[in-house]
Amino acid sequence: MRYLSTRGDPARKRFCEILLEGLAPDGGLYLPERYPQVDTATLDKWRRLAYPELAFEVLSLYVDDIPLADLKALCAKTYTQEVFGTQEIAPLKRLEDGLCLEALSNGPTLAFKDMAMQLLGNLFEYELARRGEELNILGATSGDTGSAAEYAMKGKKGVRVFMTSPHGRMSPFQQAQMFSLQDANIHNLAIEGVFDDCQDIVKAVSNDLEFKRKHKIGTVNSINWARLLAQVVYYFAGYFQATKSNAEKVSFAVPSGNFGNICAGHVARMMGLPIDKLVLATNENDVLDEFFRTGVYRVRGSADTYETSSPSMDISKASNFERFVFDLLGRDAGTVKRLFGEELAKSGCFDLSADPAFALAHTRYGFVSAKSTHVDRVATIRDAHQRFGVTIDTHTADGLKVARHFVRPGVPMIVLETALPIKFAATIVEALGHEPDRPVQFDGIEDLPKRVTVLPADAAQVKAFVVAHLT
Ligand SMILES: *Cc1c(COP(=O)(O)O)cnc(C)c1O
Repeated sequence: MRYLSTRGDPARKRFCEILLEGLAPDGGLYLPERYPQVDTATLDKWRRLAYPELAFEVLSLYVDDIPLADLKALCAKTYTQEVFGTQEIAPLKRLEDGLCLEALSNGPTLAFKDMAMQLLGNLFEYELARRGEELNILGATSGDTGSAAEYAMKGKKGVRVFMTSPHGRMSPFQQAQMFSLQDANIHNLAIEGVFDDCQDIVKAVSNDLEFKRKHKIGTVNSINWARLLAQVVYYFAGYFQATKSNAEKVSFAVPSGNFGNICAGHVARMMGLPIDKLVLATNENDVLDEFFRTGVYRVRGSADTYETSSPSMDISKASNFERFVFDLLGRDAGTVKRLFGEELAKSGCFDLSADPAFALAHTRYGFVSAKSTHVDRVATIRDAHQRFGVTIDTHTADGLKVARHFVRPGVPMIVLETALPIKFAATIVEALGHEPDRPVQFDGIEDLPKRVTVLPADAAQVKAFVVAHLT
């Protein structure tokens, strides 16, 4: 299996080459040259597998530069009951006939990002050891991504994490999760500024190519192909739990921000998993819903990016979306390059409404979409609590609200649960009048000693901190 860039760079790379890379050199995103096809006999066989074995089977179709025995061991080490809370890893919870939740949020940071990041941590450690190299991950977070990365990389050999976050702006629970880590290879940098300042610092450091090369600076952002691939597995796992035979179809409803999660669903569908609809849910930041309704992709400025009660979906542009558009346009890299490399840069917008390919988003690729607002979230959390006796988080509520528009008789609808409610307790209190349950391992987490350094919003000082902590 070789990987190509969505913008037409002629290079063809192998899995481990792109594992530690971000964007392709031409600014595109990596995708496999083709999607391996999974036939009915294979689905029958996979239906009986435990999660780590299923992960191994899916990964082995895309990874041919890690010996199979090693890949199998990495999957077995990653997807354990100890780390993810259950033997199923991603168990299905039935809400009512034809409607269920797939629990993806029982990993160490209580959000679905652990599903991929935990594997990434093990893959990084493996590949860095094999190369005899080190990696210093510099990131910016407003919450979920940073903590998932830290919990995946803590204690890993050859990796250090320097994670910037806006000082005093994360929820107390999120701060406690990150700052209570005492591992020597994890560094929390609270920046006196907002999230955009953190991102600007990361960009400024990454643009200093000399510094980046000399100090082996890398990232773990959501465009990493290995993260996407790890997420493909739970679409298969959800399908097998919701159906009895491969003649059945299911739909998935996915609370979306950067289009990473649902893009994995698209990959699973392209491989032949019998998915009827991919239901994309946005919050008030509805860039993606607008595209699937109108064919116009219009990125937002920071003034038009709202702070909502499902904050992990507060995005102004969807960093993984280019992958889907590449497939939608029949893998025409020239057009993708023009749209993403030129038109977006120039006008912040492109319009496919008049392109015959746009209709295929619905007909051939199964996408539908809608948006959900704060009022919807609160009502949905309340309704799910009253009728089903379950407490869902605000992002999952966006998914459930939108899913309801697209439920069809005979096609189970699987809503992906992307976080646990304790992470967003204030809105749960607003909806239900009481705090959500807290998993026992997080009792008193806010009182633990914190390991964090406060720095001004200044790239030079962040660089100096990194250099001072490389041993
Ligand atoms: C990251 C995140 C999302 C959005 O996922 P994308 O892959 O960016 O579309 C939704 N919900 C939660 C809780 C998240 O952490």
